Amino acid sequence: MYSHHSHSLDYVAHGVDHLESVVARANHMHFELFCLTEHMPRISAQLLYPEEATGNAESDLETLRNSFEKFLVHAAQIKKRNLSTKIIIGMEVEGCDLSHIAYAKDLMEENKRVIQFCIGSIHHVNGIPIDFDRSGWDRALKSAGNNLRSLLRDYFEQQYELIRELKPLVLGHFDLFRLFCTDDLYIDAETGEKVEKLSSTSVRASEASFPALWDDIKGLALRNLEAVASYGGLIEINTSGLRKNLRDPYPHRDFATLAQSVAGTRFVLSDDAHGVAHVGVCYDKALAYMSNILNLERLHYLTDVAGVLEVQSKSLEKIRQSSFWEQYL
Ligand SMILES: [Zn+2]
Ligand SMILES: [Zn+2]
Repeated sequence: MYSHHSHSLDYVAHGVDHLESVVARANHMHFELFCLTEHMPRISAQLLYPEEATGNAESDLETLRNSFEKFLVHAAQIKKRNLSTKIIIGMEVEGCDLSHIAYAKDLMEENKRVIQFCIGSIHHVNGIPIDFDRSGWDRALKSAGNNLRSLLRDYFEQQYELIRELKPLVLGHFDLFRLFCTDDLYIDAETGEKVEKLSSTSVRASEASFPALWDDIKGLALRNLEAVASYGGLIEINTSGLRKNLRDPYPHRDFATLAQSVAGTRFVLSDDAHGVAHVGVCYDKALAYMSNILNLERLHYLTDVAGVLEVQSKSLEKIRQSSFWEQYL
């Protein structure tokens, strides 16, 4: 089995377990590949999370930089151990704005002996975090005029900048904005405006198929997916969505099937683990999703051939036959 995306308590404030324990768990579960992909440091004080802010922004930002450097050293040590689980080292990009995207490019270049690829992720819309907590997500929606259609537009425009500038090998959690598209959020089906009540002209955000609802959103998502396919990038199926009780992993079925309509789309699987219990979390549900909802024929994964990354694939049929799944019975 494979995971292309992970974190740990050692290097991200909201992590759960130490990196060593997370890797030991992946090895114990007989993962063939486990990618270590800590977040790049953010470089502006406004983007510090409450859990990182001590009141001295300069020193907090320096802490992020130091922590990332330590991560690279530690990850390289783990990789050298030649565990039966192969380790590939990556970096999760914070595509907050153009200066962060430029900084990501510099970091990749400066550390190219260690960092083998990046996960292109958007965690902010208009500089406001959308996956940290409900209140942040609500503020982001407010910044988009309390209009979900606008929020999605802003998100996908920013994601496109990231794709264009950086060409990330893996595009992370394609529709992360979904995290707080809850049952009690009602949206005008045409305008995307947040409304108070469910009516004949509104929908629950949790149940909406966004590309079907809004042509402009479908167009932006398609443009992004085509751009990723054009340079051989990979779309991540990320089970942290399931871990957080969403119906589907990221991307949900609406955007995942849209991705399937794009020639050259290739999916990889990730658990986005932040702790031991997250390693391989909900992979059984992801398998059902890939088999029954997406009718996916092949799952792709990275391999490291003498330091050079290659993309390989396995039929879902073969993956289904693996003894890996006995751990979920
Ligand atoms: Zn992320
Ligand atoms: Zn992550």
